[in-house]
Amino acid sequence: MPGKTNIIDIHQHVNWLGKHDEDLISYMDNAGVDKCWLLSWESVDGGLEQGYQHLSISDVYKTFKKYPKRIVPFCGVDPRRRDAEDILETLHKRGFRGYGELKFRILADNPDFIRMLRLAGKLKMPSLCHLDVDIPATPQWYLGDISHFERAAKLCPNTAMIGHGPGFWREISGDAEKVDAIYPTGKVVKGGRLEKVLEANKNVFADLSAGSALKALSRDVVYTKKLLTKFRKKIMYGTDYYDTRMLEFLKSLKLDKGVFSDIIGGNAKRLLP
Ligand SMILES: [Zn+2]
Repeated sequence: MPGKTNIIDIHQHVNWLGKHDEDLISYMDNAGVDKCWLLSWESVDGGLEQGYQHLSISDVYKTFKKYPKRIVPFCGVDPRRRDAEDILETLHKRGFRGYGELKFRILADNPDFIRMLRLAGKLKMPSLCHLDVDIPATPQWYLGDISHFERAAKLCPNTAMIGHGPGFWREISGDAEKVDAIYPTGKVVKGGRLEKVLEANKNVFADLSAGSALKALSRDVVYTKKLLTKFRKKIMYGTDYYDTRMLEFLKSLKLDKGVFSDIIGGNAKRLLP
């Protein structure tokens, strides 16, 4: 169909929650998703983490080989691995196009991580970062908060840095630092760091996947519509599930057609043609 933007889901996994590659493809077919970015989660100290699920780079690769037209493969090589840079370069040669999911218990401005992000930038691999902040109720943090993420973005200006997760989306509101909850609720307070970071850093993008984005964007739909319109070239559709809740939500906002098509696929396609 001329002029129709294909939907790209920039945040997917396989072989997790009892779901396999056939489930992924049937979700995509049912939801009208043309392609997805398929992410790993490999952490060298994952065994020490409560909520860790090993999502291997090799499973991503197998799925990509089986469905090469539907899958854009990502590899989240742990920067603490020996020869991490060599591994990333080798995987890039094998066809991997992005660096992620990056969900480690190190701060995002850790020098080992910066080295990897710079290499990813050189290889034109967008880097997808999961942020979770340390709050008393849940002592499970990843990459630190948005200030560490922004520092990494400034240190790696040639790397497309995509923010995702509760630690990223909580910053939609200006009072995020005072709230002791993973998923803050209530009206958005002006002056959120999310908007500032998107505004100040050309290389920062936002991933709409998971409950974290949906919950944050549901807090104040008037603000959300303005945010999505203002940053229409930086915000990308993703799910982290096999469902269409975010797609339905975006449709319900009745965004300008061009804004909607940028978000559901145009931006992802520009970033990874
Ligand atoms: Zn994920």
